[in-house]
Amino acid sequence: MSGTQILALIAPVIAVVFAIVFLIVWAAQRRKRYILFFVASAVLYALAAATQIFMFPPGIGPNTTASALLFIGTVVCFGEGLLRRAGTSRGRLPIIATAVAVFAMVEVFYFVHDSLTMRLYALNLGCGLLFAATAIELAEAGRRRTIDRIVFWVGLAAGLQFFPRTVIALEFGTPIDGVRGFFASAFWFSMNFSLVIVFLVLALTVLAAIALDSIDELKSEGHTDFLTGLLNRGGFEARARDVLADPAAQPASLVFCDIDLFKGINDRHGHAAGDRVLQAVGGLLADTIRPGDVAARIGGEEFVVLLEGANLASAWRFAERVRRRVEAHAFDAVARDLAVTASFGVAERQAGESLPDLMRRADTMLYAAKRGGRNRTQADPLRGAGQPDG
Ligand code: GH3
Ligand code: MG
Ligand code: MG
Repeated sequence: MSGTQILALIAPVIAVVFAIVFLIVWAAQRRKRYILFFVASAVLYALAAATQIFMFPPGIGPNTTASALLFIGTVVCFGEGLLRRAGTSRGRLPIIATAVAVFAMVEVFYFVHDSLTMRLYALNLGCGLLFAATAIELAEAGRRRTIDRIVFWVGLAAGLQFFPRTVIALEFGTPIDGVRGFFASAFWFSMNFSLVIVFLVLALTVLAAIALDSIDELKSEGHTDFLTGLLNRGGFEARARDVLADPAAQPASLVFCDIDLFKGINDRHGHAAGDRVLQAVGGLLADTIRPGDVAARIGGEEFVVLLEGANLASAWRFAERVRRRVEAHAFDAVARDLAVTASFGVAERQAGESLPDLMRRADTMLYAAKRGGRNRTQADPLRGAGQPDG
């Protein structure tokens, strides 16, 4: 084995190490099945490099065919991992067609017109095209966080490097003299060197993306109410502060909602039935809000909704709509003939008013609605004269 071949062994060794790392990462979060495509990609890359180093299977025809399939498989699997992570469900026709065409070209340049140089062009430029096709699909997926942009550009750069490197090494490097000369050529060295770098950069970028995904998921789990799927108090406060800080979202109004005599529902039908009532009411709320509104369960049977761009009158109408939907809803699935109502307090945000102050005023209105007999909406008359008419 020559020194260059030993150098070339670095590629499969690194690939195997990353295959194991990806496998461990997948084992820790099995929901992310796309990670298995990165495992497969790393394994295929290790095998592809090994076919060339050990000239196995022997014979130029079988070896060319095997290594072409393995290299193309490496890029396709890697791209598929990226696309699945981005959640795109678009068809893969452009990618599959490119992969088949690249393989066909490599075969043509052995069985029809035998030329090592043309095979190298076909395989290397083809892999570059495959990366580019994947990057285009990735851009269509439309995930726009910083890490998604980095993944896109790193993937595109990985594809683009194939073009100048292949052309420069084949046109300006020492001419390749047969198979033996291939392993001594500038092409072989530059290819292995750049592929190892590209592989390392891609694998590390993907690992960083997986880690950042997980951090985002933990954050959003920490902000979600497990029972209703709405935001919890922490999530509400974070989102509501953003809305209130946005001048385009004004006017804004807050609706406080509390289920009437809920303790009695728990007492008569059990805590589990109470939970299902909470889920149903949460569902009705989620179904009534518009995009941009922020709905949350902030306590036992207490919900709040921050309505973006809503003045007192339209917030009052919103609350009444929810109130009537709760009143009309059949809770038969929870308990036969169960009637549930809720009371609402509404306040419109005053200029510069803080979130706690706004919530306090809406809560005071809720208290007034309870005292007034429940199953009603009370709006803060601070803005507008008295009760707004529906
Ligand atoms: P009001 O009309 O005055 O609001 O009367 P209420 O009974 O609804 O009010 P109260 O605050 O006295 O009772 C709220 C009850 O909600 C008490 C508590 O046991 C129950 N609760 C709090 N959190 C949960 C929960 O997650 N699930 C269920 N099932 N019940 C809960
Ligand atoms: Mg209550
Ligand atoms: Mg309550």
